[in-house]
Amino acid sequence: MSENNTPVEGQAIPFKAETQQLLNILIHSLYTEREIFLRELISNASDALARLAFVMLTEREVLDSEVPLQIRIHTDKEANLLVIEDTGLGMTRQELIDNLGTIARSGARAFVEASKNTDRSLGDIIGQFGVGFYSAFMVADSIKVVSRSYDPDAESAAWIATGEDTYRLEEGDREQRGTEVRITLKDDAKEFLDESRLRQVIKRHSDFIQYPILVGDSEEPVNRQTALWRLSPRETEEEAYNEFYKQLTLDFSDPLVHTHMVADAPAQMYAVLYVPEDPQRLVFSPRKEPGLKLYAKKVLIQEFCTDLLPQYLNFIQGVVDSEDLPLNVSRESIQSNRIMSLLERLVTGKALDMLESLGKETPEKYQTFWETYGTRIKEGVAVEQDSPDKLFPLLRFHTSNDLSGWVSLEDYIEQAGSEQKQIYYFLGDDPSAVRFSPHMDAFRKADIDVLLMTDTVDPFMLLQLKEFNEHSLVNIADADLPDTETSEPGEEDVEALDQAVVTDLVTKFKAILEEKVSDVRTTNRLSDSPARLVDPEGAPDQSVQRVYQMMDKKFELPKKVLELNPKHPIIKGMADLDQEDPRFNLLAEQVFENTLLVEGLHPDPVSMVGRIQELMIDVVKSGQNSNGD
Ligand code: ADP
Repeated sequence: MSENNTPVEGQAIPFKAETQQLLNILIHSLYTEREIFLRELISNASDALARLAFVMLTEREVLDSEVPLQIRIHTDKEANLLVIEDTGLGMTRQELIDNLGTIARSGARAFVEASKNTDRSLGDIIGQFGVGFYSAFMVADSIKVVSRSYDPDAESAAWIATGEDTYRLEEGDREQRGTEVRITLKDDAKEFLDESRLRQVIKRHSDFIQYPILVGDSEEPVNRQTALWRLSPRETEEEAYNEFYKQLTLDFSDPLVHTHMVADAPAQMYAVLYVPEDPQRLVFSPRKEPGLKLYAKKVLIQEFCTDLLPQYLNFIQGVVDSEDLPLNVSRESIQSNRIMSLLERLVTGKALDMLESLGKETPEKYQTFWETYGTRIKEGVAVEQDSPDKLFPLLRFHTSNDLSGWVSLEDYIEQAGSEQKQIYYFLGDDPSAVRFSPHMDAFRKADIDVLLMTDTVDPFMLLQLKEFNEHSLVNIADADLPDTETSEPGEEDVEALDQAVVTDLVTKFKAILEEKVSDVRTTNRLSDSPARLVDPEGAPDQSVQRVYQMMDKKFELPKKVLELNPKHPIIKGMADLDQEDPRFNLLAEQVFENTLLVEGLHPDPVSMVGRIQELMIDVVKSGQNSNGD
């Protein structure tokens, strides 16, 4: 390269290092679906046409302004040549250097990165990345790009790849505005000289490109040119939606679900929305950034528009197109546009409908959805200003009866039967703790199922989820179960302790736990558990306490009341211990800390090990003593 960085005509210029790596991989790849190179080149041509359409709205001076916007593909069998030509905005000499000498696409760069640390064959992963223009090297011996910019003052220029390391520039011979990609095909890629093969590939991968694609001398476009979203949903096949999704995201699997909406009021709009099955697969996608593609009157005005869906739904991919949006709008004016808020309402409503019917019609698929995106929906309930209840039907929960299955609020109410007027839930950190929760004693006895709320976001959600279908949500720690005390026939009533003994026991517990609890008392609500913690009168809701705790590290939970079960063998046994027995203290502390543990409130569970070991030594010793007897 010369001193002033302007390459001398015809001189070999080295590609940037990462571009060389990419070309090296593509030239030697054995990727079986290499026909996608045509999709990539057509997509570039279509972008160039769309950008020209946009330029023509604002600038008066455009070369060949009367030439139709189209893509033509032709072949020369003798010369072994395949040419993809467009009448788009073209490139100047400098633009050829800037755009084709280095990797423009982030997808291509990500591909080079991934190729360094993957066990999979490179062929397998090419399809996942937008390798763009360079994918032509899978089928090319050499490539010449001849272009002429829409700028009437620019001259035609040519770019020629001379191998995997260098390229050079020449004067171009193109008279018309636009770009020609001339590919000299490899010996094993001659199939792409066959026009019917080309038509097949175009039909398969580029059917929805909005500009006409002409093959050979024919003036009959091969593609249908109507954007998918402008077709009638009734006449469009599942396969077409899936294919469009893959082109949009470069995901290699079908989406979990899609929906298609055509609306005339209150705003005119077309939209196609998708939920990716696994967002991980979009890490290298050109659409890893959130946002929908927004078109106004068929012109792409925003690649990633985040104003059409609330943030908690930003995993949704798709396209929105409206005839009512003004062209030529800046980003700021898009946001404040009156039509945009109408569109947002429509798109969000449609997205929620899509999810609700997924839940009703295909529960197995909904389970996949829920396990991937469930916390986003819960987050939505927590933040939704207007009507969080529109999200309630989407919620799913594990329950105490089914720790691995998922139940909706509607199912819960139905399974509970008409007698039960409330929806009960367990609030904690660990779903398996529900098995030991003392608050569950009465529910187990009465065989009442309980929802598990153990996600970090659950307390936030509960601030807005107070009632569903006239059933209020109640924490089992606060629940007053109607008369579950009557024992089952045949079940023996365990004898409780004498009142004087109880008073003495409570006094001793208070003396040992001191400041750690606000009070100690007995209860008859427990059966399997020796004790439980409850909130003192007037304490804020537990979900509110947890929210405070997460928002403010210094927030201290209100001290709890320890309730003892005077029928439980541990408590009864403690009453029988000698006045001075040192084990009483250990047991009282452990009873208390066990309740902290099941509530998910223990600040330092490991600290219990010392005490538990002391009690274990005691058990072992008493075993030895009785053996010695
Ligand atoms: P991408 O299209 O994702 O940017 P590519 O590697 O496919 O990546 O292309 C690099 C750049 O070259 C494009 O961004 C565009 O500026 C330019 N380009 C490619 N093909 C054309 C074309 N047919 N007409 C005009 N510019 C083009």
